[in-house]
Amino acid sequence: MKPLYDITPFTLLDYPDLPAAIFWFAGCNLRCSYCYNPEIVLGRGKIGEDDALAFLATRIGLLEGVVLSGGECTLYPRLLPFCRAIKEMGFKLKIDTNAMRPDVLKALADEHLIDTVALDYKTTQEHWDELCAGGEEALFWDSFEHLQQSGIAFEVRTTVHTGLIDEATLIQMGRKLESAGYKGVYALQSFATGCETLKPIAAENHSVCIERLQLHVKLPIIHRSL
Ligand code: SF4
Repeated sequence: MKPLYDITPFTLLDYPDLPAAIFWFAGCNLRCSYCYNPEIVLGRGKIGEDDALAFLATRIGLLEGVVLSGGECTLYPRLLPFCRAIKEMGFKLKIDTNAMRPDVLKALADEHLIDTVALDYKTTQEHWDELCAGGEEALFWDSFEHLQQSGIAFEVRTTVHTGLIDEATLIQMGRKLESAGYKGVYALQSFATGCETLKPIAAENHSVCIERLQLHVKLPIIHRSL
């Protein structure tokens, strides 16, 4: 099985403060309507583990981090041995995940295979089916708890299309994170206007107002561009 759809050989944007490569895993278990990577989510892997590790061998001393993104990397059945091999080469490892495989995250954390995580918080259960074709909010909270207990640095992030998630829901989500003891920043990512999406969705007719959200949520909320 070839897990990777593609490799971005160099980025300064995706791993906090480190030069890194991005491994894009093919396939995803959520199928969010606003997903702007339909070719990765629906596509087949083209690059195998051996080729990915051979690539990294040529980057020792040049890159410091590897980001596992997608698609959804936690679906890959050999993720743990793959991560072990990457760590043995001396790279720091970041996982971008939709949070729907808490047991995989726990296994990675228990073995200290991951250094940082970007954890998607899609929406509340009340609105889940309007956005995602799979999963549920409870799985996000299981993943969140595992990471809180592990001590691993992680950031919770939500992609915002204002036609699909409203400010009242974002306030509710921010308050839930506060109540759960989250100490990081809550990152809101704008919907990527102009990209092809997994399902046809209407254009946004307004943007989210972070100042207004912060009137209701004490947790620091930041805007992050995609
Ligand atoms: S937005 Fe992320 S979680 Fe949703 S379908 Fe796309 S890759 Fe999967």
